[in-house]
Amino acid sequence: MSSPTVHPAHTPPVIAADSLTVVSLGSGSRGNATWIGDGAHGLLIDCGLSHRQIRTRMATRGLADAPIDAVLITHEHSDHVGACGVIDRHARRQGLALPFLMTPGTADGLNPKVRPASIQAVEAGVPLQFGPWTLEPWRIPHDTADPIAWVVERDGLRVGVLTDLGHTPRAVRHVLATLDVAVLEFNHDEEMLLDGPYPWPLKQRVRGRHGHLSNAAAAEALEQAAGAGRLRDVLLGHLSQENNTEELAWRAADAAIARAGAATRIHLATQDVPSDVLTVQAPQVAQPTLF
Ligand SMILES: [Zn+2]
Ligand SMILES: [Zn+2]
Repeated sequence: MSSPTVHPAHTPPVIAADSLTVVSLGSGSRGNATWIGDGAHGLLIDCGLSHRQIRTRMATRGLADAPIDAVLITHEHSDHVGACGVIDRHARRQGLALPFLMTPGTADGLNPKVRPASIQAVEAGVPLQFGPWTLEPWRIPHDTADPIAWVVERDGLRVGVLTDLGHTPRAVRHVLATLDVAVLEFNHDEEMLLDGPYPWPLKQRVRGRHGHLSNAAAAEALEQAAGAGRLRDVLLGHLSQENNTEELAWRAADAAIARAGAATRIHLATQDVPSDVLTVQAPQVAQPTLF
């Protein structure tokens, strides 16, 4: 079993080669980005914050010089891809061809203004090797052409980013239970959404089968995953600023973990401030004793 540690916001994390570090740089309808890496390699999952914000927020968490070897895109909504073009141009000015991994459907749906030069096509359901990483693109139900959730694995440590999904199909529930750390969407409180300011068609879109997860739906999936015993840390992400509160999302997650009898730790992945920096250590393999 891996053992995660949480670094207080003001302490730069010590990044060891046998660990994975995870931080949500921002999560919500105004921009999403998650950094996952170790001392030598790093991946960005989505880039819906500006390039400047991504680097500034990484710096505030002690990751100023942390590497980004690839950008993994979940889908073409602007809150997930807004900085593709700028990050791509910045890398090319430094002589790097930074790959942007996405499904062909997402690539086709990209706004041409943010389209990067180096798109590497991936197929939902087909894992791939990228440097030291095994990358798993999982199909999710959302109202875009070919959306995916990303699971990243290295040395047996597994981290997943599961946001922007209208419900949790069996495969998604299965994969959630295999993760050490998950960013999981807790988008809206159903009552707040129904009583709130959104026009009816938008309410229908958000709560639809290809919209966003309610606190209740996410909590149900979390309960099942946490009950399986592996999930050590969950970051509650993509909270709606109109139709949710941090307290409601937290309470729903906390109750789900209690029902599961699990010890999963809860963190918030909010819009304007980076999350806790989580470091997950690889399990220590006992050395055989020679007599
Ligand atoms: Zn989104
Ligand atoms: Zn979306």
